[in-house]
Amino acid sequence: MTVVMDGKALRDKLLEKLKLKLDKFEVKPTLVVVLVGDNPASKIYVNNKKKMADELGINSEIINYPADISEEILLDKINDLNNDDSVTAILVQLPLPKHINKFNVINAISPEKDVDGFTPKNLGFLFAGEEPYVYPCTPKGILLLLDEYHIDVEGKHVVIVGRSNIVGKPLSQMLLSKNATVTICHSHTKDLSDTTKTADILISAVGKKIIEENFIKQNCVVIDVGIFKDENGKTRGDVNFESVGPKTSFITPVPGGVGPMTIASLMLNTVELFEKTFAE
Ligand code: NAP
Repeated sequence: MTVVMDGKALRDKLLEKLKLKLDKFEVKPTLVVVLVGDNPASKIYVNNKKKMADELGINSEIINYPADISEEILLDKINDLNNDDSVTAILVQLPLPKHINKFNVINAISPEKDVDGFTPKNLGFLFAGEEPYVYPCTPKGILLLLDEYHIDVEGKHVVIVGRSNIVGKPLSQMLLSKNATVTICHSHTKDLSDTTKTADILISAVGKKIIEENFIKQNCVVIDVGIFKDENGKTRGDVNFESVGPKTSFITPVPGGVGPMTIASLMLNTVELFEKTFAE
């Protein structure tokens, strides 16, 4: 029997607990989201993050710059936010316009305020097997979801399709530290389905409909990170849910699987950074 993993329910459960914790704080954490340009998808993501923070009682601010802002002004702003003691967490919404060097911008965020866990220092901790200030949100959300459904990764073969810095790469390290055997595939992988078929757990983070029924073995756990709109404007994932679902033991839906867990992790990370500033 297939279990459909409910990311919304787990998000609600985690955020209810977080709200009770936040209600007891006299001073609340502050999350600042920096958005450059007016990419419609980014605007929706940023507004959803603010709405969620507001509902929990986390102070939040969106700083929206026009698309033609210079890298220098952006870096100056990040420097100001780093030095502002009232700011707990900084998030720069990606993607950035082409004329801005993404690495320079992320690298400018203080690791102690890096709520996405994307700075070279935090990723360096992760790859060295040490604990970063916080773990990147989507990989963290995926591990929370696996945990909720008592899916132990130790000794399992986990195949990740996608090697981005925000999903595939950090996730591979987090799984390795939990003693999974990890294979990462990407657009140059030959005969992708030969590899995915060997997975006990398959995690797809591509952004295209790519995983079909013949890509998995019976009873595989399938985590679908991908989100895109199909030709009819419907939100879809990488996995053909209808044909793949019945062959799996556990599967995440899109929407309602990994997406809600990413935003929950962002809120958890904001509070973790806040607690760490007091612990230091
Ligand atoms: P990305 O940076 O574009 O990376 C996509 C990855 O997919 C790349 O590693 C690429 O390989 C690989 N790929 C592309 N075509 C492939 C193919 N035919 N076969 C195998 N691999 C292929 O994307 P991302 O930022 O990681 O996001 C991936 C997807 O997840 C997107 O749909 C995004 O919207 C979604 N996402 C969802 C959440 C959430 O909360 N649910 C969070 C983050 C991202 P190369 O490296 O060789 O180019």
